[in-house]
Amino acid sequence: MATGRAALFFEPGKPMTLTEFPVVDPAPGSVLVRVTRANVCGSDLHFWRGDGRLGRWNRQDGAIIGHEMTGVVHALGDGVVTDFAGAPLAVGDRVVYQYFAPCGRCRACLRGMTPACPAALGRMFTDPHQPPHFNGAFADYYHVSPRMALFKVPDTVTDTMVAGANCALAQVIYGLERVGVGFGDTVVIQGAGGLGAYATAVAKERGAHQVIVIDGLDDRLALARAMGADATVDLREHARPEDRVAAVRTLTNGWGADVVCELVGFSEVIPEGLRMLAVGGRYLEIGTFYPGHSIDLDPGRLVAANHRIEAVMLYDAASLGAAVDFLARNAGRLPLDQVLADYPLDQINEAFLDQLSNRSTRASIVMT
Ligand SMILES: [Zn+2]
Ligand SMILES: [Zn+2]
Repeated sequence: MATGRAALFFEPGKPMTLTEFPVVDPAPGSVLVRVTRANVCGSDLHFWRGDGRLGRWNRQDGAIIGHEMTGVVHALGDGVVTDFAGAPLAVGDRVVYQYFAPCGRCRACLRGMTPACPAALGRMFTDPHQPPHFNGAFADYYHVSPRMALFKVPDTVTDTMVAGANCALAQVIYGLERVGVGFGDTVVIQGAGGLGAYATAVAKERGAHQVIVIDGLDDRLALARAMGADATVDLREHARPEDRVAAVRTLTNGWGADVVCELVGFSEVIPEGLRMLAVGGRYLEIGTFYPGHSIDLDPGRLVAANHRIEAVMLYDAASLGAAVDFLARNAGRLPLDQVLADYPLDQINEAFLDQLSNRSTRASIVMT
């Protein structure tokens, strides 16, 4: 029987090791993908370090982590003839797909909140030693189950462009929709990593009048500007939270922003982000997805200013389809080919260490 490689993660501080698992046929309605590229996402780093309470998900016998990926159809399960957009699907097609599986029948799913489905992420933590084995990105194969939205990737959209679509890009498309970024809005983006760079471009496409991006690395700030940022606030020049709040106030004629997006991934930035909001403003919380931290919050300020906080984890199927369309529409117009440092699967530990030390270049695992 054919086998494929998978990197197993055990616990923070312990190197991942490669193992082989059998490649089983896809179940009816499923798709077996041969993974071509899997990025090291910021949330993989949180997991790898065991931030917050993420350690409770560790498996003593190893788990395949990673979720940001793309690949080609290796085999189609019975009944699969199209992607989720209705396009014919065949072996060899390049595809992008969700890494979680909403159940479709819980309270959240029934009310159209599939990203809040408590069962959705369970797919990531199934035992890789049991069939169908391949349930994480850092491996040669991946089984896409029937409830995971899957879309074909147009030829004009390269692997390096699309590998982040099923995480960062779809995530911000859904988040900006939830918080209703629209025509004429002033938007502040906290953090110009993968999420922040995409959010800048998507906010501009949605009609934002002014997008202000906050970060402290030159190449990230340059990328934000290339993605459409109207102004940037450099952490090195505005070292204290109150300086950054003042900078945003100055850039918005004293009003503050209609929408502020937390795309940093550390809860420390939330209080200052809330202080950047205009009256009636909306705060989008995406970055700090892992429980175990708390913040100082003055509810009276929220009430007095009619602020709204939207916390968003994951995204709906439509957002992933919209992400592929966004990439096709903007290929050649925006710098969507992320800066990626490629590593083979057997150098995954080096990839994580390098990603941690160089936060401006994304590590990506290329399966060969
Ligand atoms: Zn991710
Ligand atoms: Zn559900």
